Amino acid sequence: MIVFDLQCNNGHKFEEWFASNTEYEAKTDAHEVRCPDCGDTHVVKALSAPRINSGASAPMPAAPCGLPACMSGGCAMMGGDS
Ligand SMILES: [Zn+2]
Repeated sequence: MIVFDLQCNNGHKFEEWFASNTEYEAKTDAHEVRCPDCGDTHVVKALSAPRINSGASAPMPAAPCGLPACMSGGCAMMGGDS
């Protein structure tokens, strides 16, 4: 999947996901992509670099015991200061 920043004839910018650049061209040519603000189907790519969705999530920093609570600084496995 690939996301493009699009812009309609009225200057509204929005994002739309496509399977490929070919699908983007086919859908915009067929006026199947419509501006969510005004419904205009004359959309073009806004000037920005497309982002690729690789499906990988951002790497999480390692926690001492792997519990979600550790991520906020309150690790129960650390024993605390008693
Ligand atoms: Zn619009």
